[in-house]
Amino acid sequence: MFTILQIVLFIVLCVTAGFLAYKGYLRVYKNIMLGKSEDLSGDSSERLKNMLLIAFGQKKMFKNITPAVLHLLIYVGFVITQIELIEVFIDGLTGSHRIVFHAVKDIPALRFLYVFTISSIEVMSVFVFIATVAFLCRRWILKVPRLNKPELKGFPVMDATIILVSEIYLLACIFSMNTADMALHNGEYGFFVSNLLMPAFAGFGETALHVFERTGWWGHMLGVLALLVYLPYSKHLHILLAFPNTYFGRLQPKGYISNMPEITKEIKLMMDPSAVPPPVDANAAPVKFGAKDVFDLTWKNLLDAYTCTECGRCTAACPANQTGKLLSPRKIMMDTRDRMEEVGRIKAANNGVWIDDGKSLIENNYITVEELRACTTCNACVEECPIMISPLEIIVELRRNLVMEESNAPAEWNGMFTAMENNGAPWQFSQQDRLNWKNG
Ligand code: SF4
Ligand code: SF4
Repeated sequence: MFTILQIVLFIVLCVTAGFLAYKGYLRVYKNIMLGKSEDLSGDSSERLKNMLLIAFGQKKMFKNITPAVLHLLIYVGFVITQIELIEVFIDGLTGSHRIVFHAVKDIPALRFLYVFTISSIEVMSVFVFIATVAFLCRRWILKVPRLNKPELKGFPVMDATIILVSEIYLLACIFSMNTADMALHNGEYGFFVSNLLMPAFAGFGETALHVFERTGWWGHMLGVLALLVYLPYSKHLHILLAFPNTYFGRLQPKGYISNMPEITKEIKLMMDPSAVPPPVDANAAPVKFGAKDVFDLTWKNLLDAYTCTECGRCTAACPANQTGKLLSPRKIMMDTRDRMEEVGRIKAANNGVWIDDGKSLIENNYITVEELRACTTCNACVEECPIMISPLEIIVELRRNLVMEESNAPAEWNGMFTAMENNGAPWQFSQQDRLNWKNG
């Protein structure tokens, strides 16, 4: 009877968590699809290579060895511990206990493989524990500058801490479950780290050991389900989105900035006086330059925003930020994501219909004109990003809108724009005079 109740409770928890997680991930998908369409199919072998090297292999992380090793330990540990979760999950559904162990215990080779796998998970978990504590120290004691910038105040810093503390909680559950189970069965399983920890449980009776084992088992299960539901609201969504984001990452040479087709057309006409302008289509929608809100960015820009890990490597490398300007490329990504979520909430509250809230991504507590003007388009942020995110693409689109739709540019730039329009160059003299400097 107790076992049946336990199975029912387990299934109810899994279905509830699955439903909540589905809603969370669907929300993220719908928000990304607020962006303009962009065809990024093709070049699949190069894209796959990028994904394997950069998302799976963490290639770009290794520019800075200490955080790279710590991050790799947590990442590998996280992936490996899910193997034990498979058995936990089957046990929960069937009401069994260590179903895989009992299925293989009389076959020496398979028994060895089982014990080796769980022991490896335990050893890896010890490394994950060390790495997690080191990350907490970096954030809270050493106060690494890039992890203590103004844009991280409030929820972002809590979010990072919640995940790190959850890691420690999950590890405590795994060791409580395994060690108490070993003590209950006189070390029959032979798990490496639990074997070393068993003396700590020596003074406890059978009932207490059962409580430790069950608390660890349920605690582990509930912790994983809670993380599944929490992930779509956290920067740690990058655990999943890093893969599509690197797959669909830009393949153009570094520093490439896309042209605006309408402007390219005009320049070609300017440079070829004999060219005949195409007829004007009176029914065509008016051309919009750049981006003012999330709808004007592409779905890839919005996927970038959801994938951002808020690591701040971009901001640490940004020359504008280094020289005390307001601009932080990490904040650009965070603001884009926050605005996207705000737009998504408004649409969801109105049955999928967009009701203009009179705001946009520029100003309104999001990205300011001052930040946009500070960017030198040096591309350092893109180069530094470990998962192929481009804050620069968003900055350029927003700045294009400011300048070309709102005529919002500093006086110095306006002089340059006028010169370009009149002379085809940023200088205040005609093209014919460009080489005058060499005379005499
Ligand atoms: S491109 Fe702009 S935002 Fe990126 S690092 Fe350079 S100045 Fe900073
Ligand atoms: S854009 Fe890239 S480098 Fe910058 S904070 Fe996000 S993940 Fe880190």
